Amino acid sequence: MQLLKTPIEYLKGVGPKRASLLKTELAISKYEDLLYYFPFRHIDKTQIYTIKDLDASLQFIQLKGRVIRCEDLGHGKSKRFVVYFSDNHDTIKLVWFKGIRWIKSSLDFNKEYYVYGKPSYFNNEVNIIHPEIHSSDMQNNAMYGSMQGVYSTTEKLVSKGLNSKGIYKLVNNLIPLVENDIQEILSENIIQDLNLPTLKQALVNIHFPKNNNDLERARKRLKFDELFFLQLFLIKNKIIRKNKFKGLELIKIGDHFNDFYQKHLPFELTGAQKRVLKEIRMDVKGPSQMNRLIQGDVGSGKTLVAFLSMLMAVDNGFQSCIMAPTEILAQQHYRTILSLINTMDISVEILTGSTKTGKRKDILENLLNGEIDILIGTHAIIEDRVQFDNLSMVIIDEQHRFGVVQRSKLWAKNHKPPHILVMTATPIPRTLSMTLYGDLDISIIDELPPGRKQVKTLWQNDSNRLKVIGFIRDQINNGRQVYIVFPLIKESETLDYKNLMDGYDSLLRDFPLPKYQVSIVHGKMSNEDKEFEMKRFVEGITNIMVATTVIEVGVDIPNASVMIIESAERFGLSQLHQLRGRVGRGSEQSYCILMSGNKLSDEAKLRLQTMVNFSDGFKVSEVDLQIRGAGDMLGTKQSGSLQFKIADLSQDQNILIFARKLALKLLSEDEGFSKKENINISRHFELYSKEKKKWIHIS
Ligand code: ADP
Ligand code: MG
Repeated sequence: MQLLKTPIEYLKGVGPKRASLLKTELAISKYEDLLYYFPFRHIDKTQIYTIKDLDASLQFIQLKGRVIRCEDLGHGKSKRFVVYFSDNHDTIKLVWFKGIRWIKSSLDFNKEYYVYGKPSYFNNEVNIIHPEIHSSDMQNNAMYGSMQGVYSTTEKLVSKGLNSKGIYKLVNNLIPLVENDIQEILSENIIQDLNLPTLKQALVNIHFPKNNNDLERARKRLKFDELFFLQLFLIKNKIIRKNKFKGLELIKIGDHFNDFYQKHLPFELTGAQKRVLKEIRMDVKGPSQMNRLIQGDVGSGKTLVAFLSMLMAVDNGFQSCIMAPTEILAQQHYRTILSLINTMDISVEILTGSTKTGKRKDILENLLNGEIDILIGTHAIIEDRVQFDNLSMVIIDEQHRFGVVQRSKLWAKNHKPPHILVMTATPIPRTLSMTLYGDLDISIIDELPPGRKQVKTLWQNDSNRLKVIGFIRDQINNGRQVYIVFPLIKESETLDYKNLMDGYDSLLRDFPLPKYQVSIVHGKMSNEDKEFEMKRFVEGITNIMVATTVIEVGVDIPNASVMIIESAERFGLSQLHQLRGRVGRGSEQSYCILMSGNKLSDEAKLRLQTMVNFSDGFKVSEVDLQIRGAGDMLGTKQSGSLQFKIADLSQDQNILIFARKLALKLLSEDEGFSKKENINISRHFELYSKEKKKWIHIS
């Protein structure tokens, strides 16, 4: 057996009890797991401070000197032991409240000591409370370097003696044992070209660096490894899939497409829309199955691109479907598509959770016998009983709302997998799309339709409400419509409703808007009621739409020009950007007003200020990534594949771009890793992809 696969139990200092805890608490079950359990920071013991330079603003520091005197002070709770420590020039007090007996018995006035701790103010002078202290002969004994790793741990592990230092000691036992068994996983070429340390050096130095330079090099190498192998995996998967899954060849551009494109397009397509359509066209007429992500900002016109793609399917005698995350959105797509189809001979149906039994039966039947050309729906369309005659094009709108499993179910709805087009709700940063969707082809709509005025975003304090209300009045009197959105309380729909009503009532009480008609939409309503209220707003019968975030994604009402977001500090950035995207869809100047209270966290301020500063969704999402990190930004549904040990997508953009480039190059030169120089990569890749397949399903 390989040494690195040895159960952790057998490492000196572990044993069965600690082993089972290490496994449950930190997922460390083998030597190898501990080797890859990296410290999250390092204590720098390479530097020695002088006492006169100390003040309480410093973090942990190190001193070198002798004990010149000690005394017991205080009683009861303030009982303490004070050591006067000198570095030959000045003296500082080291103070212990606990463990006094042990400290007393171990100090030796004849020895030189290293002291390590954080300076703080106590009794109006700089002291160090509960420092680490050990004699200089021990320090010289330290096996590796003098920057000590700090490891994260858990309460349970601490209770078994495995605090950070305890783990450090285990790593200390481990490294000399295994370091000669660490096998290189990169090729000699790459290591030399990139001037990286070997894997062995990197793994030793990440735990025990001698200095900052070693540490940085080790970190860079290990980050590169993580990102590089993920990219190899994603790109290789894409290649394999393209070879394996022959797509349905949608060869011709037919009458429906041509007729619509030439005569019925409601407006000239933007350059970006045209480009993306061409990319789709190239995919679907070729021999492979399409798997494409469309990234576009809110309002960039993804729906029209989706519709034209479906026409390609219709013209070749195939069915298509579009899945949206909410009933409201599915209904909207249905209306839009019906009006686009106009007099064309194409049959469209909508299937959602609220479709009546009889109707549902008809739809299921007509899907199977090929009567229906285009199906629009919610999650309801992934159910097993929904079967098609010849499905060739699947479009998933606002795909972040769906889990991987839900999406992959649509693959199985045809004997040959259909072409897949997934569309994002808001853009995500390039580093994220490259990792999360590195196995997809990506199209970017980076242009808004012409004539759009940029939405003006204002951040207003609650005390300015009177002004805001006046503004709403003016807008409505000019014929515009207004959204007022309240935050949703997830835990309870009842509360959500109450919140909305209370919020709106108090708004009305203080600032009556009596003449105006109001639509109200919230999560607690039945779909018919929602639909009814929405419809009144769409038709301009109501002037104001009061809603929770059920309104968030996709809704398209060009005459609405004001978005008021109440308690805006309680929304995340991508949500705020989505909400803002509900306005600015017509040719009028639109406004997004963020209402907030006074007491805001720094992070909330940053979010709101970001909204004011940037209108570009790609920029907003970059900030979001910096604030939240990749895992939180994407939610658990999607982040399983993004669990890095050391790489950080908010910081390592350059390494990532480089890793992807190199992975592409390597695969184009040696797809099967069969060249001799790539043997290390080949060996590691096999293990890596076995592990990774548990996480990643292709969209
Ligand atoms: P999103 O990309 O957010 O899904 P939509 O597809 O809902 O955006 O489109 C937003 C609005 O822009 C719709 O009202 C749509 O009719 C309009 N639109 C789409 N493409 C164009 C275009 N090329 N020129 C003008 N308006 C367009
Ligand atoms: Mg949309």
